Amino acid sequence: MIPAQFEYIAAESPAHALALLAEHGDDAKLLAGGHSLLPMMKLRLAQPEMLIDIGGLDELAGVSLDGDDLVIGATTRHADLAASELVRAEAPLLAYAAAQVGDPQIRHRGTIGGSLSHADPAADLPMALVALGGSVVLQGQAGARTVGADDFFEGYFETAMQPDELLTAVRVPRRPGVPWGYQKFVRRANDWAIVGVAAVDGRIALANMGPTPQRATAAEQALAGGETAAVAAQYAAEGTSPGEDMHADREYRRHLARVLTRRALEHQAG
Ligand SMILES: Cc1cc2nc3c(=O)[nH]c(=O)nc-3n(C[C@H](O)[C@H](O)[C@H](O)COP(=O)(O)OP(=O)(O)OC[C@H]3O[C@@H](n4cnc5c(N)ncnc54)[C@H](O)[C@@H]3O)c2cc1C
Repeated sequence: MIPAQFEYIAAESPAHALALLAEHGDDAKLLAGGHSLLPMMKLRLAQPEMLIDIGGLDELAGVSLDGDDLVIGATTRHADLAASELVRAEAPLLAYAAAQVGDPQIRHRGTIGGSLSHADPAADLPMALVALGGSVVLQGQAGARTVGADDFFEGYFETAMQPDELLTAVRVPRRPGVPWGYQKFVRRANDWAIVGVAAVDGRIALANMGPTPQRATAAEQALAGGETAAVAAQYAAEGTSPGEDMHADREYRRHLARVLTRRALEHQAG
């Protein structure tokens, strides 16, 4: 598993990364933690001619508060997100989700910006961002725009980000003390979710139940209408379109979505 030949350049700043993206167009790819891109390159599913490394850009890393939002830099590593006192206090679901990603090696290299940009529907952080009603900040050479999580994920490994844009930050509404639930069903420790559920403040998001992280809107509406968690959870798979693989067929995934949603709603922390 050896990738095709490529050039490598370490960006000196976000502006430098954007200029390199503009210069090299479709031949270039941003490199953050490399824990999704490099496996794809080794499998020759991606063959960029130029890698632009943003992983060392300190100005894109870190966590801060901005009014009602928690702001997380794109190159913040999963391990730093999980350990951040600020994230644990203001958006504990996000810290917990980061701690569920893979193993320690992956959590020490992988970044939140890389995970969201990669947009694997089975991943932890995209689901958490949808549950939290967060958004991403996309920087292009002409300026920045903010896109809500519900609109950012467009399909399997597809997002609303343009090839010449850089995801610079993630914004999450502060929710200190608000109860939340998180369930991830895996066959082995450290695996991606066969199905995942994140619930907070009446919003419920599902992982691996379709091409993007899905909202369980029928279950959300049942909850809002005063139904119990057990009743609302029965609607969790409505409107979803799970795929099939060696781990689970569609009907089993729908069953898991209902069971895990009930558990996420009944065993909330916070
Ligand atoms: C064995 C293994 C197990 C894993 N298990 C899990 C798991 O259980 N749960 C889970 O959620 N994930 C899991 N992952 C994925 C892991 O979370 C990755 O770290 C993450 O998906 C990608 O982040 P990265 O920083 O490594 O991105 P990279 O691999 O560097 O990049 C991924 C993609 O995003 C683009 N990109 C990166 N940063 C930006 C940016 N700031 N702006 C625009 N585009 C950008 C790149 O060009 C590339 O296309 C696993 C990975 C491995 C190898």
